[in-house]
Amino acid sequence: MQAITYHGPHKVAVETVDVPKIIEPTDAIVKITVCGLCGSDLHAYRGDQSGVDKGTIMGHEFVGIIHEIGSEITNLSIGDRVLSPFSTSCSTCYYCERGLTCRCEKGQLYGFLSDGQGIHGAQAEYIRVPLASSTLVKVLPDITDNVALLLGDVLSTGYFCAESGLEHLEVELRQVSVVVIIGCGPVGLMAILSSIFLGVKFVFAIDCIEERLKLAEEFGAAALNFVDCDPVEKIKEVTSGRGADVVLEVVGNPAALQLAFKILRNGGVLSSVGVHNSPTFPFSPNDGYNKNLTYKSGRCPVRKMLTKSIPFALSKQFDFEKIITHSLKLSDGEMAYNIFEKKLDGCIKVVFKI
Ligand code: NAD
Ligand code: ZN
Ligand code: ZN
Repeated sequence: MQAITYHGPHKVAVETVDVPKIIEPTDAIVKITVCGLCGSDLHAYRGDQSGVDKGTIMGHEFVGIIHEIGSEITNLSIGDRVLSPFSTSCSTCYYCERGLTCRCEKGQLYGFLSDGQGIHGAQAEYIRVPLASSTLVKVLPDITDNVALLLGDVLSTGYFCAESGLEHLEVELRQVSVVVIIGCGPVGLMAILSSIFLGVKFVFAIDCIEERLKLAEEFGAAALNFVDCDPVEKIKEVTSGRGADVVLEVVGNPAALQLAFKILRNGGVLSSVGVHNSPTFPFSPNDGYNKNLTYKSGRCPVRKMLTKSIPFALSKQFDFEKIITHSLKLSDGEMAYNIFEKKLDGCIKVVFKI
């Protein structure tokens, strides 16, 4: 089968590799119909995440049809259309029982093999899914393949980020709160829609890429280009000098986290889903204390979050697929990584149709 594989920083290749086989009786093999390229793939691609084995199949977003099932699987059948969170989960460990499925004791991230340990990714024609019965979710006929793919990662993560930032606020307070989203990539754009869905009326979105800011505006946010203006001053202007009530950081670099902190008012909530590889915070414990900061962060527990993000998707209030600017073939893999990383050709989200 064809697959996009990792070969070192800024090197991916489209290769012919073996079709995966069932290893454990709890595995399933899924024939992929659509898979995605995600901002998180860029951390490996750029070499920020050391230790990824050469030859690892990249990617963690996919939708497909069950092709084969292990002998212990009873809730899935060959031919089922399924989506998957970006990591596997068991549903029975300490963390899964508490809804933190992204920290499952047996969970693994797709597309992460290091010293031979781990599992291959989804930018391929087939994928082996461990713990399939508690990881995969059957897709309702009302949900398109593209939306199902977004539910497996960016849509659910955007929802998680917004909900984490807003859950302490009653609906009436959400309507008068100022929420700022930093970063208008796929996840940030989903966080904008989620904030609106959760009742926020005053949504601001910050980025420096015009086509992303344009889509943020179409989605209902007021766009701020941080190259053309000082977003801290702009938000102060609309909040009587206080700053934003809630800031969602959806970038994953120190500059964005620092901006998020500066924009936030005293007692505000900073909800961060950007993947950070920096060893330190760009603000001090004393800064946090002086702001009565609430800081929430981490990987989205997608498997759990689907109980909320699927109804959000089914509400049909929003055109989620607008973020998909490029629908390509696996054989376009090298070009796709290049345009997605450099944000060329108006690229926001790439999917590969198999
Ligand atoms: P992306 O790279 O497409 O988008 C990031 C956006 O941030 C870009 O549009 C970029 O122009 C903008 N940006 C860069 N620096 C900025 C700054 N200082 N201020 C404002 N905007 C800035 O990525 P994405 O796919 O939308 O993902 C966003 C982040 O979320 C990544 O770090 C990704 O790894 C992470 N992520 C986390 C989870 C999770 O579970 N926590 C899941 C998926 C993705
Ligand atoms: Zn992802
Ligand atoms: Zn578990």
